[in-house]
Amino acid sequence: MSEPSIVEPSRKTPVWGDYEVVVLGGGPAGITAALAAGQSGRKTILIEGYGFLGGAGTAAGLSTFCGLHAAVYGQHEQVVHGLCDDILERLRAMDGLNPPHLSVQDRIQAQAYDISAYKIAADELLGAAGVEILFHAIGVGCAMEGDDRIAALFVETKSGRFAIRGRIFVDASGDGDLAAWAGVPYEVGDGAGNMLYPTTMFRINGVDHKKAGDAWKLVPKLMEEAEKTGRRFPRKKPIVRPQRNPIEWRANLTQIRTPEGRAVNGIDAREFSYGEIEGRRQCWDVFAFIKEVTPGFDQAYIVEIAPQIGIRETRRIHGEYQLSQDDILGCRDFDDTIGVNGWPVEAHVAGDVKFLFAERDTRGFNQIPYRIVVPRKVENLFVAGRCASMTHEGQSSARVTGSCFVMGQAAGTAADLALADSTTPRTVDVAKLQRRLERDGAYLGRDR
Ligand SMILES: Cc1cc2nc3c(=O)[nH]c(=O)nc-3n(C[C@H](O)[C@H](O)[C@H](O)COP(=O)(O)OP(=O)(O)OC[C@H]3O[C@@H](n4cnc5c(N)ncnc54)[C@H](O)[C@@H]3O)c2cc1C
Repeated sequence: MSEPSIVEPSRKTPVWGDYEVVVLGGGPAGITAALAAGQSGRKTILIEGYGFLGGAGTAAGLSTFCGLHAAVYGQHEQVVHGLCDDILERLRAMDGLNPPHLSVQDRIQAQAYDISAYKIAADELLGAAGVEILFHAIGVGCAMEGDDRIAALFVETKSGRFAIRGRIFVDASGDGDLAAWAGVPYEVGDGAGNMLYPTTMFRINGVDHKKAGDAWKLVPKLMEEAEKTGRRFPRKKPIVRPQRNPIEWRANLTQIRTPEGRAVNGIDAREFSYGEIEGRRQCWDVFAFIKEVTPGFDQAYIVEIAPQIGIRETRRIHGEYQLSQDDILGCRDFDDTIGVNGWPVEAHVAGDVKFLFAERDTRGFNQIPYRIVVPRKVENLFVAGRCASMTHEGQSSARVTGSCFVMGQAAGTAADLALADSTTPRTVDVAKLQRRLERDGAYLGRDR
């Protein structure tokens, strides 16, 4: 048998540049982190593996913002503001934003957007903030300065491997890649090996919307009936809904498991690759059913299967605090609030999706503490987005776009403060950060 590993020759890696703030990942957390740092005048670079921004919101084909709204004492309102408003405004100006619609048992609002418009809106906003974007660059490791400071991020690009030096880093990779390379402790799943199940999303075109009507209510019923006669579907609670132009519908109804039935692991290269094939297979199979049985869908076709399988959960780092399900359901307050989250716990478990809401007629949102973006062990790093410091159940809620916008804006702003005050993320003056966030339009949920 051949040796299981080979020794690579050591090499000198050219430096791409020196930056004040280096952001890894261009999803919602990375976009707002880079925007906040760039708008503060910091020399900022954002590194993204794809050739466009948006993260799962574009690459995994979501096309709906969740977590921007809350049911506040029964009234639906937008509760995430700040840089989020700039993104929404730009999308609206591009005619790329639907009004909010009722989602999840009609108990909470979500808001659909046009995926291409979102990509361009993000390009333009980051460009206007002076952020350098390096697309098609994969972060692959880091160089440390001692045990607790990152000196540089290594990236692989089509022009070769480079080191990107920075003073402050923001890990917005969704997977906590940079944090893991730097030695930040983390966990994966619920402690018993279960992660939230991933989904491959697809969009359907050519729908006769007059005939289809509100078929989003009908499709789940048709699927339930078919199951009684032996047809099998990947999961319950399918979401099939019209886009801004109702000839196009989005479908969120697959569930990607290993042959043993576990959630495909997005940080296991072999499983991740297998999942792409399995996800597309499921899309094709379930679409054939929808086309056959749904009024108005007889001429419909799949216009796009998302570029990648949508991964809901991988690493969650250990930070100064872990946001939990009790915090979500109890609408908890924190002295170090950086914004709010009103999305319910949305657990993608085997074959189903389970929702848990805060009690009706409560405030309907929890505050998000600054400490969840401050990782243990490393002193010049923030971790924002779905890989921030949350329990498995807490992340099942606060992983959605609204909270990621909040965490990113706070991390980018705090990076500026840490640099200005020659301090570290852990010792940033939180009151000062909160004043800055409120000055910049963020809502911290302190008035209710
Ligand atoms: C199937 C599915 C459906 C969902 N539906 C909704 C929904 O309808 N509404 C909603 O609000 N939320 C939804 N979510 C949740 C939400 O989209 C994500 O949790 C959110 O996008 C997380 O944001 P993030 O910035 O933390 O990471 P991500 O959106 O995952 O972005 C991370 C980015 O970093 C890049 N990256 C990662 N590693 C590297 C690396 N090593 N080098 C370079 N680049 C890297 C990735 O390419 C990606 O662009 C859904 C999630 C899934 C999977």
